[in-house]
Amino acid sequence: MQEFDVVVLGSGAAGLTAAIAAHDAGATVGLYEKYEKVGGTTGLSGGVAWMPLNPFAAAAGVNDTRDEALAYLNSLSNGMLSLAMAEAFVDTCPETIEWLEHATPLRLQLVKGFPDYHPERPGGKPSGGRSIEPVLFAYDALGAWADRITGPENPTTISESPLGGGTGVLTPEALQERSQGRRQGCGRAMIGALLKGCLDRGIAPVTGARARSLLVEQGRITGVTIDGAEGPVTVRARRGVVLATGGFEWDAGLTRDFLKGPIRHPPSLPSNTGDGLKMAMKVGARLGNMREAWWAPVAKAPGLNAYGVQAVSLVLRERTLPRSIMVNRRGVRFTNEAANYNALGAAFHQMDVSNFDYANQPCWLIFDAEFVRRYGGFGLGPGSVPDWVMRDESLAALAGRVGLPDGALEASVARWNAQVAQDRDEDFGRGQSAYDGWSGDQQYHPQPRATLGPIDTGPFYAVEIMGSCLGTNGGPRTTIDGEVIDTDDAVIPGLFAAGNAMASATGMIYGGAGGTLGPALVFGYRAGRRAGGAERR
Ligand SMILES: Cc1cc2nc3c(=O)[nH]c(=O)nc-3n(C[C@H](O)[C@H](O)[C@H](O)COP(=O)(O)OP(=O)(O)OC[C@H]3O[C@@H](n4cnc5c(N)ncnc54)[C@H](O)[C@@H]3O)c2cc1C
Repeated sequence: MQEFDVVVLGSGAAGLTAAIAAHDAGATVGLYEKYEKVGGTTGLSGGVAWMPLNPFAAAAGVNDTRDEALAYLNSLSNGMLSLAMAEAFVDTCPETIEWLEHATPLRLQLVKGFPDYHPERPGGKPSGGRSIEPVLFAYDALGAWADRITGPENPTTISESPLGGGTGVLTPEALQERSQGRRQGCGRAMIGALLKGCLDRGIAPVTGARARSLLVEQGRITGVTIDGAEGPVTVRARRGVVLATGGFEWDAGLTRDFLKGPIRHPPSLPSNTGDGLKMAMKVGARLGNMREAWWAPVAKAPGLNAYGVQAVSLVLRERTLPRSIMVNRRGVRFTNEAANYNALGAAFHQMDVSNFDYANQPCWLIFDAEFVRRYGGFGLGPGSVPDWVMRDESLAALAGRVGLPDGALEASVARWNAQVAQDRDEDFGRGQSAYDGWSGDQQYHPQPRATLGPIDTGPFYAVEIMGSCLGTNGGPRTTIDGEVIDTDDAVIPGLFAAGNAMASATGMIYGGAGGTLGPALVFGYRAGRRAGGAERR
């Protein structure tokens, strides 16, 4: 039987951070990962972390204060925020960054100019300052582990990509230089650097190891049963078990039972099936934020992805760039298409009370030939879109193929074009927020024209857009140190949670780019420290 002070389950940002923090608090650490590779959804991600009060903003001359950050979060709370958790998050951002850069090879930098997702709210930052990302990390430092990390090869940072305000184009010289040492950006840089931090401490993740159930002795969690290559094994944890097993978006029963609306084809790692949630429920954890997720719209691409599930495209730029709108099955617009993806979830969950069905699902993104010429889309550059995108010579013919009522699409497009001519979306305010045009046509940002443009040049295109999520964010409620509490609000001794496996520390709020990974790093750090034996804060 294996025995450690702390056992961490899951190897995304939350799990790796917790493992290092527990070690540095004086614990021996075992790290178990269900999938055959390390990194979780974090490895597939942009790697951006939303962290108020970070030192990079200060160095760039952006003024941010605790009061502003908390006012911002509070203004978006909708009654879902625990003030203590929000304060712990904001207060621990600077310390977490300083510790990560000191204790691991992870190096971070500002994604310059990235506006908060609701920048006009009190304390919001319209010119950015809270979204940071990993500097490129050289995978050669990882030896054989370099090929055992989730996500595709990616030698770029978000700052360099159109999503982060860059062009997405790297010179052949830059690409050549980055191939030396196999330098990686985004989520792969974050995971690579954190994994190196683990390996340097002698913490080698055990992969293909699915935790199944917790051991409970006299009310205390003392270990976990794990299904490995050689069958079930018991791993004892003298001080604690940290659930960092991601969300439950890939368990159809759990999403049906808890989420407030349907999700289709999540773009996350399919091993995130809520195992941590089930283990926590079984030992009496109090749950929180269960109806929520990090909502995001997707489009189906043909075939399966590298993880054996439906391939999808996250739809961000295409619905933000000028010359595109979204319409529902009545052929009418229903939302600010350029709003941030998490907020957009609400539009997909809206019910038609007469029909008693979801008013805006299914829905379609509609754009024109000039859009394609200027921007391309769905993974292809200017001039092209993939073959699977529906296309027809006229709006009427396209509407017929999609199945929209006669004349509806033409009327919606005419109304849109008339509003665009006035530089103002009277219906949904698209282009009014400093956020809206950020992922649009950057040459016009922050003017509304970064996202407003007519749909007037055939042929015309349509893609079905589906409500989905990057991951769920409900789970066991915790103290500010990641200790799981029970239904009477008492700490369950020896049980911790972090990342998407815990009840989100920011409730239903996606503060800005990196709104999930910022809290995952902070609470991975706090939970790991406390599990490792550090004092409560
Ligand atoms: C394309 C894409 C881009 C994104 N970009 C960003 C971004 O830039 N910024 C941001 O903040 N968020 C982003 N997100 C969301 C973000 O990636 C996730 O919210 C975040 O990675 C969650 O981290 P985590 O550590 O909680 O979980 P994960 O990284 O998903 O790790 C959980 C791990 O637990 C493992 N596991 C599950 N069950 C068990 C078990 N029983 N035993 C052992 N291990 C188990 C899983 O296999 C997985 O490896 C993005 C998501 C996607 C899909």
